[in-house]
Amino acid sequence: MEAPKIMDYNKKTVSELDVRGKKILLRCDFNIPLDAETGGVTDTGRIVSALPTINYLLDSGAAVIACSHLGRPHGERRPELSLAPVCECLAGCLGKPVRMARDVIGPDAGRLVSELRPGEIMLLENLRFEKGEEADDPQFAAALAGFADIFVSDAFGSVHRAHASVVGVAEFLPAVAGFLLDKELKTIGGVISKPARPFVAILGGAKVSDKIGVIINLIRVADALLIGGGMAYTFTAALGGRVGGSMCESAKLDYAREAMAAAGEKGVKLLLPSDSVAAPEISHDVRAVVAPSGDIPDGMMGLDIGPAAASEFAEVIRGAGAAVWNGPMGVFENPKFAAGTLAVARALADSGAMTVVGGGDSAAAVRKFGLADRFTHISTGGGATLEFLEGKILPGVKCLADA
Ligand code: ADP
Ligand code: MG
Repeated sequence: MEAPKIMDYNKKTVSELDVRGKKILLRCDFNIPLDAETGGVTDTGRIVSALPTINYLLDSGAAVIACSHLGRPHGERRPELSLAPVCECLAGCLGKPVRMARDVIGPDAGRLVSELRPGEIMLLENLRFEKGEEADDPQFAAALAGFADIFVSDAFGSVHRAHASVVGVAEFLPAVAGFLLDKELKTIGGVISKPARPFVAILGGAKVSDKIGVIINLIRVADALLIGGGMAYTFTAALGGRVGGSMCESAKLDYAREAMAAAGEKGVKLLLPSDSVAAPEISHDVRAVVAPSGDIPDGMMGLDIGPAAASEFAEVIRGAGAAVWNGPMGVFENPKFAAGTLAVARALADSGAMTVVGGGDSAAAVRKFGLADRFTHISTGGGATLEFLEGKILPGVKCLADA
């Protein structure tokens, strides 16, 4: 079988450096949803995931200057996107004070950095308040790097972006991976390059075009590919099925045919949902029907895989040695269309296989179902996980020192 593409992800980690008495610039991914009304942190997942590296650094006598982006302020100072609520939550999780800078590379940050002692931690303000962050401006990167002796990258969710705090600073400082980044790379990288077999990949979610590269790379390595979610209807339509008002990318029909042909050639079992739960609209009181996925009634859309498809998918998952899942099987945010996603999540949880979930919505679904601790690994990455699975080079990983 043709080897899948995978970047070289074997990077030096923070445990290989002497950090005692050093100032560490620690890039985290604290880009997390804030409650629209209270402005508070609603999901602490990414903060909790950052704790092992932070605790290790503080216990080893380093001083930690943590930094992150939040949302898309595009170089403007937007008070509602301040990291202050994150800082409060981080302090609570750590059980230690975390000093919050009022700016990123300005006088307040500079003063707090100069006062910072070994074993103490502070947080810079939202990196994207500065235009230089997304532009990977070398002057901005130099100013950030000037705060510290060592750069530790632990922001797996951001390593697909060539931004100043992800890539630029590595020009100026010794640059190594934190424990979260290392775990993400080794777990996802390991399953792609040397999966236990049979290796089952499950893809769903909204758009085919987002995930074309992943499908191509997974066909190289997987034994079975299960396709659900909105993206399944482009494949069903490519086979001549009637998909009604379902999500369907008509410009991608040829691509879907090619992918199915490639899977056939390589002996990869590619399964589409035989049936669907369909409805005229996405609402809580709508009357949903079960229909063959290739015969969705006019005026209706396929919004979840159907019960037959769910048990066919679950059957394949039960026999898996390893599984990677990205993208929900239906509009799981609405309980009427959540059964397919729940069935797949349960089958994975019960499978005994090595199970990896990536993608913001898929991870949210697993947590909502209360199954998170029954998966081998829930990635903190969305776009980064997809690009890594695609075999793309992640600039925020490439720039780190090799192991
Ligand atoms: P992830 O964040 O896990 O990578 P995506 O962002 O690609 O996943 O897709 C998640 C979205 O896809 C969810 O909001 C879900 O409602 C939507 N979705 C899933 N199935 C369908 C469908 N059949 N029709 C329309 N939207 C769908
Ligand atoms: Mg998403």
